[in-house]
Amino acid sequence: MSKVHWIAWSSCDHEGDSESYSACGVGNGNREGDEWDGARFASEVTCKRCLAHLKKRDAAILKSREAIASEHANDQPY
Ligand SMILES: [Zn+2]
Repeated sequence: MSKVHWIAWSSCDHEGDSESYSACGVGNGNREGDEWDGARFASEVTCKRCLAHLKKRDAAILKSREAIASEHANDQPY
């Protein structure tokens, strides 16, 4: 069974070639490279390194949300 990786980045160029790579680096810099399974949904990802990356990313998002919320906590009502 092959792992499912998180698609960290993908694009299609004007010639119709598509490139993508995963959060753990699979496919990075390797256009014709190995076939790999990628998903856009965290629930489908089975690669541990990609999951670790997602966890880190979610923590960063949460942290920035908290920062925004605390910034506005002292806002005066108009
Ligand atoms: Zn991966």
